Amino acid sequence: MQYVVDLHLHSKYSRAVSPQMTLPMMDKLARQKGLDILSSADFTHPVWFKETQTLLEESGEGVYKLRTEIRPACRQGRERRTTKDTLFVLSTEISSIYKQGDKLRRIHNLIFVPNLAIAQRLTQELIKRGCNLNADGRPIVGLSSKDLLELILSLDERCMLLPCHIWTPHFGIYGSASGFDSLAEAFGDLSPYIYGIETGLSSDPDMNWQVPELMYRSILSFSDAHSAPKMSREATVMELEQPTYENIRKAIMRLSVIASRRRGNLNQNGIDGNRIAYTLEFYPEEGKYHFSGHRNCNVVYTPEDIRARGTVCPVCGRGLTEGVFMRVEQLSDPKLFGRAVPSFDEHGVKWYTDKLKIQPPYVKLVPLLEIVAESLHSTVASQKSQQLFAKLCSEFESELTVLLKTDLADIEHLAGWKLAESIQKVRKGDIAIDPGFDGVFGKVAIWREEEEKQKAEEKAPQLRLAL
Ligand SMILES: [Zn+2]
Ligand SMILES: [Zn+2]
Ligand SMILES: [Zn+2]
Repeated sequence: MQYVVDLHLHSKYSRAVSPQMTLPMMDKLARQKGLDILSSADFTHPVWFKETQTLLEESGEGVYKLRTEIRPACRQGRERRTTKDTLFVLSTEISSIYKQGDKLRRIHNLIFVPNLAIAQRLTQELIKRGCNLNADGRPIVGLSSKDLLELILSLDERCMLLPCHIWTPHFGIYGSASGFDSLAEAFGDLSPYIYGIETGLSSDPDMNWQVPELMYRSILSFSDAHSAPKMSREATVMELEQPTYENIRKAIMRLSVIASRRRGNLNQNGIDGNRIAYTLEFYPEEGKYHFSGHRNCNVVYTPEDIRARGTVCPVCGRGLTEGVFMRVEQLSDPKLFGRAVPSFDEHGVKWYTDKLKIQPPYVKLVPLLEIVAESLHSTVASQKSQQLFAKLCSEFESELTVLLKTDLADIEHLAGWKLAESIQKVRKGDIAIDPGFDGVFGKVAIWREEEEKQKAEEKAPQLRLAL
């Protein structure tokens, strides 16, 4: 069975996170959005961990759900997904700041543990090493990425570490400012235990497929949501025999095991039917670090601009913040370019499939609330956008169903032709994006002004007839 999984989330105890990020709220929004398995987030934070223990109960091996007695209170409206529990796995993000090879490294990694007891032991070990875990749900530690990996594996070999938003300049493992040029450089002889990476919003799988050392590693996508509405903006769909921690781990390990078998090592555990089916992606141009530039100087450089003019800002004279697109070019192998082959499914959704048939396919989406807001000429914060968004999600099961599967005629019937056409355009990839740079999100435009006017005129006679 397939499960939509979002394993990078933050609680209200992480910096710059909405106070609404509580477990009941995450559970509620997961239903609206169509997510099945979530990260419980921030388990090293003492107050949040207490809440996690109080609010969750075990639902299966290494997976948890909201306790039955508190669940009804957070269900509202006509939710059709009530038969399925939202599941949580224990994971957190840790920021490691340390010196290696004479360079200051700042790396964010996701840590996964198989149960509450091991979460607690990891917390104790971090405290013993002088880490301050109270200040932030995503704590800053002095341990290197490699030492952190060694520590979690020494506690239990089922623990996992996945480098997250790997390309962001300041905190990604491949980041241009304080990262590394390879996983081997960062993790040394432990790098085979890195079974996958998180792409982050500013890169899509195809960009990662160009990096040779990621060939047999899982390319995962999660939302890194700091507020509930941002959940699911990126997610991974897993095919799992049963929704357990071990099966999630097997799905993530699958490509590493295949590679290991190819090298003649047959002593690996079986991976059974657990695998990653596909990933749901943000348009990478919409991410905050796609192109290079300076936010305050309003300078944006494409990789071509950089080749022609260099990396010094023409306004302030300092080095530009290098974007993800540029950084991928530095670490990629041109022989791996063009692996993504597009095709369309019966709902008009554009899929990208790996030409080498190693990595799972992916689809690029725009969050439904953004589509609704644009089609109403409104903002995502407006009441009318939010009401229509909620209506669509409850009428057609979930946000992801509306984006990927709902019949366009049904959407038109409920919300008018404009929204139906907008969703069709997003499914086809027929949109324009002003790419993000130096911390500024890219801007999506589904409609070009002329195109919108023309479509409205085409639709006008039909509307008059209908009246
Ligand atoms: Zn991070
Ligand atoms: Zn994060
Ligand atoms: Zn500048």
